[in-house]
Amino acid sequence: MSSGPVGNESGARLAERARQVVPGGVNSGQRSVPGLTDLVVTGTDGARFRTADGREYTDFHSAFGPPLLGHNDPDVARATAEAGATLGHMGVGVTEGEVLLAEQLTELIPSIEKVLLTSTGSEATFHALRVSRAATGRRLVVKFQGCYHGWHDAVSLNVISAPEKVGGHDPISTGILPEVLEATLVLPFNDSEAVRRTFAEHGSDIAAVIVEPVPHNVGALLPYQEFLTTLREETTKAGSILIFDEVITGFRHDIGGWQKISGVTPDLTTLGKAIANGAPVGAIGGRADLMDLFSTRPGAPAFFAGTYNGHPSVVAAALATLRKLREEPVHEHVFRLGERVRTELTGLYERLGVPAVVTGYGSVFVSYFMPGEAPAPTRTC
Ligand code: PLP
Repeated sequence: MSSGPVGNESGARLAERARQVVPGGVNSGQRSVPGLTDLVVTGTDGARFRTADGREYTDFHSAFGPPLLGHNDPDVARATAEAGATLGHMGVGVTEGEVLLAEQLTELIPSIEKVLLTSTGSEATFHALRVSRAATGRRLVVKFQGCYHGWHDAVSLNVISAPEKVGGHDPISTGILPEVLEATLVLPFNDSEAVRRTFAEHGSDIAAVIVEPVPHNVGALLPYQEFLTTLREETTKAGSILIFDEVITGFRHDIGGWQKISGVTPDLTTLGKAIANGAPVGAIGGRADLMDLFSTRPGAPAFFAGTYNGHPSVVAAALATLRKLREEPVHEHVFRLGERVRTELTGLYERLGVPAVVTGYGSVFVSYFMPGEAPAPTRTC
């Protein structure tokens, strides 16, 4: 296992130094692990990592989802390093890699006719909402309880809500203008009737519906097929844009995303995480007429920019990842691993007398620590 330069410093000391100069001591809101204070990572080997206090852990959480091929896949790492050595980021024009990547994404993901790269998933969902408003001239967006679409204001509400907050507006941050929160309607996931009612009342004001086809941010609640078709029908009837946020589901369950599995094609798709197996990338793609509203020309309907978009090293990581996903039986392998983890965890909880239910889909597994059945629905569409 390779060690970082701080391998000899005690975890407690380094964590304290971090808290002096980094708010909360970590660089993302989700990185402090409850019950594990002073977690300082000093070395990694695949999915295993060592901490400054000499303990070893395995990252079953999979770094929030990107390393579908396994952490630090050697082929992706090699492609990234080679690109880094030969092709610096110039910030002008386009590279062959960007063209190849866009061509492959249009070929693989049913809804994508044109595509733009971002550096994160949040930027992709931000732009999806912006271009939906630009295209429709409308104000409202619809999201679903439990879905996470990134950190920006329009979607920063109703992710993991306390039971008494479900059904109302539950922002995950202060500092957001009330009128921004009010312009986002929150509906229960998998509730087709609520979708129909909302469209009957507000349809002509709804710019977009954004949904995680499987809200993995709260587990593995699988969508009813009928729910996804209702979203498609209602948005089409009302002239609203349907956005599938496939930042997690894209590539993880199928190389064509959940839209390929379900056969329901959205107008726009957002991607991230597994496209590049861990390199910082996101993408927004979809119908050509919508994507063409983004332009680099001043005065274009939807402004789109980003200093690092299409960075050659990241693009090389994505191309290497897609090559492997196409050429090797990655999904069969990770689905088998997921099944094995679910079976073994179920047995473990039974043996220990822990009241827990294990569920999931494909490579994703979730433990609900509760007696009885897993929250419905956990069946596939
Ligand atoms: N959308 C979904 C479904 C996500 O799970 C995430 C991140 O977890 C995002 C968007 C935001 O992506 P990022 O963290 O790359 O900004």
